[in-house]
Amino acid sequence: MRLSAGLVESRARALLGQGDLALELAQETMAAESETASSADLSEASLRLAEVYQAADRLHEALDLLTLLDERGEHWPTRALEVSARLAAVRAALGDYEGAYAALRRHHRQRAAHEAAQTKRRVAVLEVLYRTREAEGEMRAQVSLATELDSTITQLVESNSSAKESALRDELTGLVNRRFLNDQLDQLAARLGGPSTISLALLDLDHFKAVNDQHGHLVGDLALREVGLLMTRWAPPGATTARLGGEEFVALLPGMGAEDARLAADDLRRTLAHHRWPPELGASRLTASIGVATVTGPLDPARLMRRADDALYAAKERGRNRVVGVQVSAHNTHPAEGSTTAS
Ligand code: GH3
Ligand code: MG
Ligand code: MG
Repeated sequence: MRLSAGLVESRARALLGQGDLALELAQETMAAESETASSADLSEASLRLAEVYQAADRLHEALDLLTLLDERGEHWPTRALEVSARLAAVRAALGDYEGAYAALRRHHRQRAAHEAAQTKRRVAVLEVLYRTREAEGEMRAQVSLATELDSTITQLVESNSSAKESALRDELTGLVNRRFLNDQLDQLAARLGGPSTISLALLDLDHFKAVNDQHGHLVGDLALREVGLLMTRWAPPGATTARLGGEEFVALLPGMGAEDARLAADDLRRTLAHHRWPPELGASRLTASIGVATVTGPLDPARLMRRADDALYAAKERGRNRVVGVQVSAHNTHPAEGSTTAS
């Protein structure tokens, strides 16, 4: 609300009891500003002038001005309230108690309406705030639901793949299991149409039962884990090392010919034979017999495995801690280039 310096001064003078001076100044200001001021400013100026009249005890002029303002109606609620309050006060000062009472009643009605409107506005604002918060809350809930869903899906995928993983791994050694090996052999068989070479080394620990008997099953387990570790370290690139079960292990050696496979298997045999086993095994030395079967051409996984088993049996028969290799042809099984004896 704009209130000119002239009106402020005139109001101050009125309040200090300099009624005439105040009036003069107020009227001058009004005359000077009536050209340029907005109607809201003029209303405010008129109300201040009425205040000055009232303070200067020129009640009739104040009454006229206030009645004029009141009749014209005022859109600014707080100013309308002031007009009705002053009107009541001026009428009372003039002894018009009935008029004062009517003005006062109107003042209270206006005030009640004003407060009701204000309350309504506040309620509306609060409602908007509440709805905004509610919408924000809903959005946050949706976002957290989506995140939750997302992580549930991730968990499911992870647990599914870890279930798959655990179904294909041997718990004791961490090597892949017989199922995984069979799947891989089947995949290789399906893929290899042409003359490819594959070797399979089947390893069985020698007299392992004696280890369990002497040191107990837990120490036997310890030794099996150690074998898994040694095989993993030994495995040539592209090889798959698996535990078939019990004290039997396999190394699948795709692309490796009979001689290379036999040499690699013998390398593994020697590694085991010379290994420093954990102290729990005492003086026991662990050795292994290995049967190696090599196929060139179409792959029949079951046949390859059978031939490797035959070769293993031969290694055991010949005194254990040795490697026996066989070549698998389409129809016949030939003894491989040789067998490696204990060293
Ligand atoms: P061979 O030289 O003829 O192979 O003799 P071996 O004693 O190794 O063979 P055998 O088949 O008689 O015994 C295998 C032993 O392996 C019997 C069993 O107690 C042991 N074994 C099999 N699976 C496990 C296992 O998971 N943990 C332990 N500690 N021992 C096992
Ligand atoms: Mg066995
Ligand atoms: Mg054995």
